[in-house]
Amino acid sequence: MNKLPVIAIDLGTTNCLTAIYDQNAHQPSIIKNKNGNKITPSIIQFDGENIIIGDEAKEAYEAGDVGCVTAFKRYMGSSSCCAYIGNKEYTAVELTTLLLKYLKDNVETVLQQPIYEVIITVPAYFRHKERQATLQAAKNAGLKVKMLINEPTAAALNYGIQHFRKNAKILVYDLGGGTFDVTLIEMSKENQINCLITKGNHILGGKDFDKCIFNYLVNQIYYDTGIDIKEYSGFINELMGRIEHIKMTLTNASKVKIKLNIPNYGVYRTELTNQEFENITSHLLDKTGVLCQDVLDELHYTWNDITDILLVGGSTRMPQVSKYLEKISGHKPITQVHPDEAVVLGAAIQSILPAPKYNVLSASSKPIANKNAIVQKEKPVTSVSAMRLNDVQAHPLGMIAVNEEGTHYINQNIIPPNQSIPVKCARKFKYYTSAQKNNEIDIYLLQGIGNIFDCEILNKYVISGIRHKEEGSTLIRVQYSYDVSGIVHIQARQEQDECDLPIREEPVPKDMSMFAKPITQNPDNQTTYVFEILDTSGSMFGEPIEEAKKAMIEFIDKLKGDHVYIGSMSVSNRTIITGNLTNHPLEAKQGIKKLYCGLGGFGNCTHPFDTVYKNMHALKGRRIAIILADGVWSYLEAAKKAAKRCIQDGIEIIAIGFGDADYDFLRSISSSDKNAMKVHQSQLVKSFGNIAQTISETSHSKFNNNEETKTWEAIGEK
Ligand code: AMP
Repeated sequence: MNKLPVIAIDLGTTNCLTAIYDQNAHQPSIIKNKNGNKITPSIIQFDGENIIIGDEAKEAYEAGDVGCVTAFKRYMGSSSCCAYIGNKEYTAVELTTLLLKYLKDNVETVLQQPIYEVIITVPAYFRHKERQATLQAAKNAGLKVKMLINEPTAAALNYGIQHFRKNAKILVYDLGGGTFDVTLIEMSKENQINCLITKGNHILGGKDFDKCIFNYLVNQIYYDTGIDIKEYSGFINELMGRIEHIKMTLTNASKVKIKLNIPNYGVYRTELTNQEFENITSHLLDKTGVLCQDVLDELHYTWNDITDILLVGGSTRMPQVSKYLEKISGHKPITQVHPDEAVVLGAAIQSILPAPKYNVLSASSKPIANKNAIVQKEKPVTSVSAMRLNDVQAHPLGMIAVNEEGTHYINQNIIPPNQSIPVKCARKFKYYTSAQKNNEIDIYLLQGIGNIFDCEILNKYVISGIRHKEEGSTLIRVQYSYDVSGIVHIQARQEQDECDLPIREEPVPKDMSMFAKPITQNPDNQTTYVFEILDTSGSMFGEPIEEAKKAMIEFIDKLKGDHVYIGSMSVSNRTIITGNLTNHPLEAKQGIKKLYCGLGGFGNCTHPFDTVYKNMHALKGRRIAIILADGVWSYLEAAKKAAKRCIQDGIEIIAIGFGDADYDFLRSISSSDKNAMKVHQSQLVKSFGNIAQTISETSHSKFNNNEETKTWEAIGEK
C-alpha cells in the first residue's frame, strides 16, 4: 500500500506555508496554495455565512473590510474567546482549526491525494498549553500530528543540511509576525544538530512593529489636525489594513509617503522615514537583544563564541534587525536562508527522520557543549536521512510541593529547562492512606522558574485508585515526561505494581491563594475585601465607561452582605481611591459614581498594584482586586512586578479586558489564567454578575482542599 506522505506545516501568526519531502529529488519542496502562492496569510474573514481564508481574506483585511480576524495564534492556550463575529465567539483553537482545514484541503487538491499525518512548527518558547491547543486544533481539522517541531530548530536543520560545519555554534534569531525566539544550535559529531538552549517572547513580533507605526500615525494626525482618529472605527480598520504595507515599503526605501482620507477632515498627507521607524521601534529590538544576551550568559558564552547568526522569520527583513545584531554582536548575520521558507523546509526534512529516543533524566546534568572546539570546514550533508536532531523544551517542569520544614508550598523542580526532548523523570512520594475516604493525590504541575506564582499552572492531575495500607503509608511512583513535541505527560504507580493508577485531569481551581499562605495559618476569617479598579484613561470615553460603571454596580448588588467590603479605585496616569472599603452597598456605589473618564489623567502611565498592596496587605480574610481595562498600560513590566508582589501576599487579582485590551496583558497581571478574561463591552454587566456569584460560592469552600496536599511529601528521585 502506498504510504501517505507526512506534510510539514509552518503555522505562523501572519502566514502559513506547507511543504513535503520529495523522495525522488531528495529535498524538501514547498506546496503552493491554489492561487500559486507559496505563502498563505493566516487571516480569516467572516462574511455573512461565508468563511474566507488566506489570500482573499488578506485582500479584504487590507481594504479595511469588517469581519477579518488576524494574529489569533497569540491567543493559543487561552480558553477565552479571541474574536466576536456577529453574535458568535471564536477561540484561537476554533480559528486555527478553520485555518488548518483550509491548508489540508489545499494540499490535498494540489497533491491529488488525502493527507493525514503532519509535522507542525511552533515557536520554541510555546509552553505546554499553547502546544496542546495546537494539537487540539489539528485533531479538530482531521490531522494527526507526528510531532510539533520548534521553528528555529527546523530552520537550523534546513540550514545545517547545506552548510554543516562540525562544532559551529549558530544563534538562530527568529522574529516572525507575532513571536520571537532565540535559539543556540551546535553542529556536533557528524550530521548531528543539537539545540543547546532556547528563549523567547511569544508576544513580540512584526505585529508590534505595526502597532508602533499605528500609534505614531494616530499621534501625528492628532498633532497636525486635532482629530482623534480612534473615534472612527471604520477608518481605523482601513488604516490597520495599510500599516503592514507601509512597514514593508520601508524595508526597501528610506521613507514612505502616506496619504489618508480622514473622515470630517479630508486628505491628510504625512511621511515616515526609515530613521523615525527605527527610533520608534528600537525598544522592541532591545527586548530581543536582552534575550540573546540571556542565552549567551546562561551558557557562559560571549558573542565571540558564536560562529554565525542565522536570521529567520519575515520580520528579520526589516533592515534595522541586521544592523542592530551587527552592532551588539560584531557578527554580520547570515542571509543565505529564506526567512519565510527555512522553517517549513526544515520541518519537511524532519518528516523523514526517525523520532528521537527518550532521555532518562539523571542526577548528572546535561553535558555542556565544548565552546572551544575548533570549527571545521563546511561540508554539505550527503545523506539527509542520516541527519539527527536534538531539540529542547525551554520551560522547566515543576510541581507544587510542601517545603522540607512543612511550613510553605514551593515549586519543586522536576525537569530543568533546556533538557533534550523527549525526556522523562521519576519521583517517589510517601502517601498516608485512609480506610474511610478515597485515596487520591492532587498534583499541580507548573512551568516556569521561581516560586509558584511566577509560574504557569499547567494542570491539576488527580491520581486515584490508591489502595489503603494498614501500615499507614504507601509509596507512589510518579513519572513526568516531555514528549517529542514538548507536551507534558504524567503516569503513576503504587509501590511495586505493574500497572498504572488512573489519573484524571481537573480544572485548576480559580482560587489558588491557599498555596501562597503558610501551611500552619488558620484561615478562618470569612471576610472578603474587594477593590473594583477601573481604567479611566482617555480611551474609555463615552459608552465604555458608562457600561463599566454599570457592571461594577451590578457586582455590588450580587455580592452584598455584611462580611463583604467593597472599595473602588481609578487608574490612568495616577491611581485614585474613589471609595474606601465599606460593607454598606450604598456607600460602595457612591465610590463607583465618582469615577469618570480622565480622572487622574488621560494616559496609562501607572498601575494600581502598589495602592492595592498598601491598602490590603494588613487585612485578614479574602482579598481580591478586580481590574477593568480597555487597553494595555505603558509600563507593563512595573505593573507585572507589582502585581506579583500582591499575588505573593495572597491577594487575588482578576483582570477583565474589553476593547483593545490584550489577553496576554490581562494574563500577565492576574493571579491565574482563569482570572484573566477578555469580554465584549456588551457582556460586561453579565460578567461582573458572574464573578460576584463565583466569589460568593468559592469563599465558603476555598480552604477545604488543603488537607490532601499536605499529607504527601517528596522523598527524592529514584
Ligand atoms: P512570519 O511569521 O515569519 O511569516 O513573518 C511575518 C511577519 O514578517 C509579518 O509581521 C510581516 O509584516 C513581516 N514581514 C514580511 N515581509 C516583510 C518585509 N519585507 N519588511 C518588513 N516586515 C516584513
